[in-house]
Amino acid sequence: MDIGRTYLDYNATTPLRPGVRDVLIDALDQFGNPSSVHAEGRTARSYVSTAKTQVAKLVGGSANDIVFCSSATEALNMVVQSNWDSVITLRTEHAAVLAPAKTYDTANLSIEVTDDGIIDLETLPSVIDTARTFGPRVLVCVQAANNETGVLQPVADVVEICHAAGASVLTDAVQVAGKLPIDVTTLGVDYAVISAHKLGGPKGVGALWVRPGQSATPLITGGGQEKGLRGGTENVASIAAFGFAAECAVKSLETEPADSQITKEFERRLVEVSPDCVVIGRNAPRLPNTTSIAMPGRGAETLVIALDLAGFAVSAGAACSSGKVSRSHVIEAMGLGEELSASAIRISRGWETTQDDLDRFVEIWARTVKPSNGLRHVA
Ligand code: PLP
Repeated sequence: MDIGRTYLDYNATTPLRPGVRDVLIDALDQFGNPSSVHAEGRTARSYVSTAKTQVAKLVGGSANDIVFCSSATEALNMVVQSNWDSVITLRTEHAAVLAPAKTYDTANLSIEVTDDGIIDLETLPSVIDTARTFGPRVLVCVQAANNETGVLQPVADVVEICHAAGASVLTDAVQVAGKLPIDVTTLGVDYAVISAHKLGGPKGVGALWVRPGQSATPLITGGGQEKGLRGGTENVASIAAFGFAAECAVKSLETEPADSQITKEFERRLVEVSPDCVVIGRNAPRLPNTTSIAMPGRGAETLVIALDLAGFAVSAGAACSSGKVSRSHVIEAMGLGEELSASAIRISRGWETTQDDLDRFVEIWARTVKPSNGLRHVA
């Protein structure tokens, strides 16, 4: 029996948006080096410049302030490692922020989240005060949306508190870009990072927006590309495809904004067929495409495999690069305990998802989590 495949893992990565492949292939033929002054070089440069304008439009900044690099992970590492005296991280940040922040040792301070995953704004001023004992250069990292739960942070409020206390703000906007409108100017952040493959572009290309007047320390030096912030000949084809994907994302945000009612109704039905399950972050503002659901007693990994065999691609907490599934640090940070953090799976829909996909998922979910189906229970 052909069970077909239903992809519900858009927060891990997305298919290319229609037309992106053509842009990528066309740009591969523009072999010039964007740093060369001759016509071939100028053509390649124009592809990069166009992409900067397109990506800048998606985040609300200016093309001049965009830096392309190999991934959001690289961009986040670069900002975090820019010789701050201390770095404050939300406990639910992505590993691409948490890992470089750890290199600050005791000068890496954490900020707690509520059980719905939202930053504890009340404690932020005192955490910044403590951070300032290490020196005046304080960076606060606050993700715009969480990749596992879709929980949105009040970034503008964070910025207000941080700027009043003289701290700079980095927002990881990887999950929000393309799913909800974002405007770095209105938010007031100092740095924002996005990734092509989360919004319909190719993998291996990311962008950093740096507020004019702010600086960053390059991780890769050499050829002086990207105004000296990112050495290495530009990946012109992927950058061009990223730009086009960003343009498509801007259009679809204008013409068909994501409907969070679809997700709410989907979650209502999941809870209806499995009343013991818990929707993580259910009271928080969230991305319109993301559901994180935990079935106490059921191992997330087992659920993901069972759903995969039934034709559905979903993730257990974070998609882990090693292919291993561990407990979710995000759900643990929300104080929801080991049982939920070991059993949460993420369903994230996108532009190819249909109502029929969701209806069939609810049916399969009901069968998968039924107590008599023989699936392993976790201790
Ligand atoms: N930040 C968040 C919130 C993410 O979800 C991801 C990807 O999983 C990243 C950063 C890293 O993005 P990239 O794959 O471009 O390195």
